[in-house]
Amino acid sequence: MEKKENLKWRCGKCGYTLTKPEAPETCPSCNEKCEFTNVTCYTPECGGPDNIDPQLYDRPGPDGVSPRQSEPKKKKK
Ligand SMILES: [Zn+2]
Repeated sequence: MEKKENLKWRCGKCGYTLTKPEAPETCPSCNEKCEFTNVTCYTPECGGPDNIDPQLYDRPGPDGVSPRQSEPKKKKK
């Protein structure tokens, strides 16, 4: 028997994230056929496959909410 791993999918339209082995055909949030991006974390840096990779999830959603904290750029000489 094959064990399907849960992946993190993010709707390219509304930014909704869900955990499923495969990307759904329609987004449960906006009820449309959206393009889903696999945002599963594959590095220990973000905590492993149970987490979302913040680097893939850096686009703010329609609400302007970004899970990644923005740091002010520091000027280095
Ligand atoms: Zn959506």
